[in-house]
Amino acid sequence: MKKKKVWPEEEILRIERDLSRLVPGGVTVGEPMDRHTTWRVGGKADLFVRPTTVDQVREVICYVHSRGLPFHVIGNGSNLLVLDGGLRGVTMQLKDNFQGIKVRRPYITALAGTLLTQVAKRAAACGLTGLEFAAGIPATVGGAVVMNAGAFGSSVSERLQRVRVIRFDGQHIVFQREQLENRYRRNPLPDKGVVVEAVFVLAPGDKEEIYRTMERYNEERRRKQPLQWPNAGSVFKNPPGATAGELIEKAGLKGYTIGGAQISEQHANFIINTGKATAADIVLLIRTVQRRVAEKFGIVLEPEVKIIGEP
Ligand SMILES: Cc1cc2nc3c(=O)[nH]c(=O)nc-3n(C[C@H](O)[C@H](O)[C@H](O)COP(=O)(O)OP(=O)(O)OC[C@H]3O[C@@H](n4cnc5c(N)ncnc54)[C@H](O)[C@@H]3O)c2cc1C
Repeated sequence: MKKKKVWPEEEILRIERDLSRLVPGGVTVGEPMDRHTTWRVGGKADLFVRPTTVDQVREVICYVHSRGLPFHVIGNGSNLLVLDGGLRGVTMQLKDNFQGIKVRRPYITALAGTLLTQVAKRAAACGLTGLEFAAGIPATVGGAVVMNAGAFGSSVSERLQRVRVIRFDGQHIVFQREQLENRYRRNPLPDKGVVVEAVFVLAPGDKEEIYRTMERYNEERRRKQPLQWPNAGSVFKNPPGATAGELIEKAGLKGYTIGGAQISEQHANFIINTGKATAADIVLLIRTVQRRVAEKFGIVLEPEVKIIGEP
């Protein structure tokens, strides 16, 4: 059996002291990640840091980079499978610690930790159309940009005017609309890094109509998705010309269960945590789905969810 990677405690405590100087009161050691993922699974993060300013984000990134430490950034954990052995090194979360919205018609600027649903609601309240599709996506702005979150035929990258990023070497970059690519569930940014802010460009619309559309979309979600159980949305990307859910259903896998993880009876592209799932159960279920769908249809489904951490 492979030996688990563990970091010496004194090294972790030394990094904690350093990080606490950069982000006072915002560092924890051994943070359970099941508290920060919508699947409610995942081991502990060695060092968990929640900066509140762009300067703090940059300082943490520079610190991590200069020491060559492993690094992860997360938002609302709604597209993440953190493995049971947890996350080595430093994990940065940009969520309620890093929120803010400013409206300057037709633009809305949001800090990366702001929930996309809040941005969509603010747009509606201001009579700005273009983010109705996002009303039920439980993403932070940072996670939504990087995943190019989308639904009902629209996606985030189509609405972006610019994105501010701190690259993993600490360099600050602003990407303009023309530099962004619109690809299905793929990062539209030309360079990797931590998204700190996004500016959305919207259009004037009828407030009542915007609210009606958002409600219609949310109603459809409530009808089709198993929202009463911990889940991470669609587990697999749709392959060209088919939907992953249909293929999984036709492979006879609806309701298929491994440990506490189950292919939802309601929506076959959702895996739900029925209470006591581990990340290992979910990984095994993902592999089983891939194998069974490949055997039946010759299509290898690509996970949409990001799998990180140590098994
Ligand atoms: C009930 C439910 C419904 C969903 N419906 C949809 C849907 O309709 N459409 C859709 O596209 N998705 C959907 N999802 C999936 C998920 O909400 C999206 O993928 C979302 O964009 C993830 O955002 P997050 O903040 O939770 O990111 P996380 O899950 O925390 O992270 C996802 C990825 O983004 C990266 N990331 C996060 N924040 C940053 C940042 N600031 N800078 C750089 N990288 C960052 C992480 O490193 C990771 O690689 C759904 C999920 C659930 C649970």
